[in-house]
Amino acid sequence: MSSWLGVDIGGTSAKLGLVDAAGRLHRRAAIPTGVGVRAEALVEALAGAATELAAGDALEGVGIAAPGFRMDTGEGVENVSNLPGIDGFPLRAALELRLGCPAALDNDANAAAVGEHLFGGGCDVRRLLVLTLGTGIGAGMVADGAVVRACCGGLGDPGHIIVDPGGERCACGGRGCAEATAAVPAILRHAAEYAGRAFASPAEVVDAARSGDPGAHRALQEAGRYLGMVLATLTHVLGPERILLGGGGFDAAEELLFAPARETLFGCVQPFFGRKLTLGRATLGNDAGVIGAAALLRTLPGATAAPHRSS
Ligand SMILES: [Zn+2]
Repeated sequence: MSSWLGVDIGGTSAKLGLVDAAGRLHRRAAIPTGVGVRAEALVEALAGAATELAAGDALEGVGIAAPGFRMDTGEGVENVSNLPGIDGFPLRAALELRLGCPAALDNDANAAAVGEHLFGGGCDVRRLLVLTLGTGIGAGMVADGAVVRACCGGLGDPGHIIVDPGGERCACGGRGCAEATAAVPAILRHAAEYAGRAFASPAEVVDAARSGDPGAHRALQEAGRYLGMVLATLTHVLGPERILLGGGGFDAAEELLFAPARETLFGCVQPFFGRKLTLGRATLGNDAGVIGAAALLRTLPGATAAPHRSS
């Protein structure tokens, strides 16, 4: 069996997996990362884990998804606040050399969009926008089979679209950014404020809201409305045919976030755009990062073939 290897590098761990032609994940592994990790040590650890995972089989290629902005060269990422050790480092070439197979690299939001377009809920549309909600807000778009690169290697940083002028202070220094009002830390903060008690995870807020806690419910409704505003803004600029919502925040909250986001989006967007648009949930779930990373190999010049099916 030959496979694509997907590598999803995150702030606390890097996940690896072997992905077949149908986008199925077969074997997986994880190694720890962290704010102090050095790029050279990370490459060695990833190569070791990849070799173990492949167990003697040939790798057809490695796709790498990483946080931050994709460099114009496509060799690495920059503006990586949670993993400063890899900022500007040529990760793509280093892993290509170390593993002896072609490598593709992009940032995690673009990888999520490529993965959903190739293997998930966006495979039947030409213009797909994927928005992910977690500690931050990420967005990536695929149009006519290619990642849309407006700035910073993709769609820039839409988490800092202002949805509440003069509102809460954002980590970026601005006020009223989407991330400051609707990302998971904001949901936890607002739920605690409205409900009068602390929440450790979005799932806890969701459980409380479903149990009738009006404060938890209000926090989710507000976040959903702000996310809908972000989606409407992106729709007016990018004109997607489909938007898929993914990431830990949406996975936990389901309709409690999805419904107010949908209502706000279709209430704000001009009919010309709304008529062409469908909104849905991302379908790759917990494995979206690794599968999306592997799917990046399809974006390499001349790439048409998928890896051989495993069965
Ligand atoms: Zn901001």
